[in-house]
Amino acid sequence: MAAIDCANDSDLASELSDHMRRHGLDARAEGPIVLVPDSDVEESVRSFLKDTERQGYTLRRIDPSTLLLAREVPIEYFGFLRCEMCGYVTSNEEDLLTHRRAHGIELL
Ligand SMILES: [Zn+2]
Repeated sequence: MAAIDCANDSDLASELSDHMRRHGLDARAEGPIVLVPDSDVEESVRSFLKDTERQGYTLRRIDPSTLLLAREVPIEYFGFLRCEMCGYVTSNEEDLLTHRRAHGIELL
């Protein structure tokens, strides 16, 4: 089982799950998350990005069963902070520190 987190983009998730079903995967979207029974789905997500000509998206593996698909934007220039492990974005430093701790690490 794999979960692909589309970073709060439910439209992207439903398009991705449709695309995967057309390619024979038993995918379903639950809000912004796509659930697939197979674990090796990276190739399929990459072909979706290619087929739909989506550029500027990055796919990161957060843990063995979770992938994060998010649009890559230079948010740091707008005063936002980004978690370098998963791409989580916040404008609040305190919030980011709490978030990083959830990964089980202390970067500062
Ligand atoms: Zn993170």
